[in-house]
Amino acid sequence: MTESAGTLVAPRFPAETDRDYAMLIDGEWVGPGDRDTFSCVDPYENQPWGRVPVATADDVDRAVRAARRAFDEDGWPQTPAVVRAGLLRRLADLIERHADELARIQIHENGKLIGEMTGGAQALAMHARFVAGLAETIGGSSVQGVPGFTAYTVREPIGVVAAITPWNSPLTLLAWKLFPALAAGCTVVIKPSEVTPTSTLRLAELCLEAGFPPGVVNVVTGFGQPTGAALTAHAGVDKIAFTGSTAAGKAMLAAAGPRIGRVTLELGGKSPNIVFGDADLDNAVHGVMGGIFAATGQTCMAGSRVLVEESVYDEFVERLAVAASSLTLGDPLDPTVDVGPVACRNQFDRILEYIDIGQDEGAKVAAGGARDSGTPETARGLFVRPTVFAGVDNSSRLAQEEIFGPVASVVRFSGEDEATRLANDVDFGLAAGVWTKDVARAHRMVKRLRAGTVWVNAYRVVHYAMPFGGFKQSGLGRELGTGALDAYTEVKSVYIDEGNRQTFGRH
Ligand code: NAD
Repeated sequence: MTESAGTLVAPRFPAETDRDYAMLIDGEWVGPGDRDTFSCVDPYENQPWGRVPVATADDVDRAVRAARRAFDEDGWPQTPAVVRAGLLRRLADLIERHADELARIQIHENGKLIGEMTGGAQALAMHARFVAGLAETIGGSSVQGVPGFTAYTVREPIGVVAAITPWNSPLTLLAWKLFPALAAGCTVVIKPSEVTPTSTLRLAELCLEAGFPPGVVNVVTGFGQPTGAALTAHAGVDKIAFTGSTAAGKAMLAAAGPRIGRVTLELGGKSPNIVFGDADLDNAVHGVMGGIFAATGQTCMAGSRVLVEESVYDEFVERLAVAASSLTLGDPLDPTVDVGPVACRNQFDRILEYIDIGQDEGAKVAAGGARDSGTPETARGLFVRPTVFAGVDNSSRLAQEEIFGPVASVVRFSGEDEATRLANDVDFGLAAGVWTKDVARAHRMVKRLRAGTVWVNAYRVVHYAMPFGGFKQSGLGRELGTGALDAYTEVKSVYIDEGNRQTFGRH
């Protein structure tokens, strides 16, 4: 408790969060010892807290060996699917019981809003139960057209998975990898982002409590270099499952290449949110706002390129600017706040740099355009005003490069052909939104857009029953959906001779 203007103010987070954290290797907690450590930084308070070990190459090696042993010798892949499903359901119950705690840890790490986080932690539990169901229904197919043979396929777990995650949604994006990997019978070594390691460590603790055996779930903490790179380069890793920047994704592919390692990548985006002149503009403004300002714009699927048809362009820009300027910035723990801080200093500097680039390129700031220091709290924390750039050229850096912050670039278009050309004229292809009342136009646009997810009269809806992933440089492979276990299994084809005479060289 601290004294403030004569009243006692409770600390925003329990004092015990400010402690030494330990990694999870082979069912044992490994504290800092004589290793280097780093701290988390609360982006609202702009204060460091906690000390987290930097895993050495030796730590990474021990974690991978433990995961290998659990996979190759201890029988985890042979565990009945119903047992793995049961463990996932027990984990779901624990996540639900600790949803508030998990949400608060993430807020302490990355400043995401409480409203978004509490729902997110509950959704994690639902997702774990959905994947438990997939574990129970895993199977191959029987192929009847092979003369003389009983022929069928089975799906077998790939092996040891390196799950490497970013800071913006550390638990959700980990769950997208961890749950299907465990359900399929893989073992996992997790390397969380250096910005958000402690929420992952808490989830790993719940995995132990749920009963996952030693070595099945391991966590090594540290930076991309040397910890992440030591993990992706390790010969004992069969698959890399990564969410993060396109630049780091390319490094993952290079690391896996020499051993033909399996890789799934969920990378960056510069997604178009396309508003046609016939759209319900109230809905469209609302959807565009959520697309770019929710989570302070720090989502891979952010609708950061807003393409607006010329017939409504001026009106739309004005309405968007007014709405953006009216958002309340502040404490992410306050449920009335609309926009929280940016998660970390690097990101904060990068966003402000892009705002300068946009101005230098000649785009017009219609709202925001600076850090926010309107209150003592926002002046202290890492706050950027929700920013709208109008008159943006689609070929400019502002429109082509991922900013990963609350910056909307509004581009003018005329007609479906131009909308399509501009929307697809980018290296990324993660998501797209279309706002129109014309059903036929909606169908035409869905077909023409080169993106892994397309929303019509909606934005930023992701459900675990639907696949998620990117076209082009937004990624490789898909996560979620009813096929989520495919990315963690190999297909084996089996031919059983039915006793007919074999012909040499039959193939
Ligand atoms: P990042 O790529 O810098 O880091 C992500 C993770 O990779 C971290 O754990 C980091 O330590 C590790 N890492 C970095 N370089 C590495 C290397 N050479 N070898 C091994 N590990 C390495 O990304 P970030 O800044 O944490 O996250 C923001 C990025 O993530 C954005 O570009 C965003 O678009 C992307 N993202 C994508 C999705 C998606 O589903 N497509 C979701 C969220 C975030």
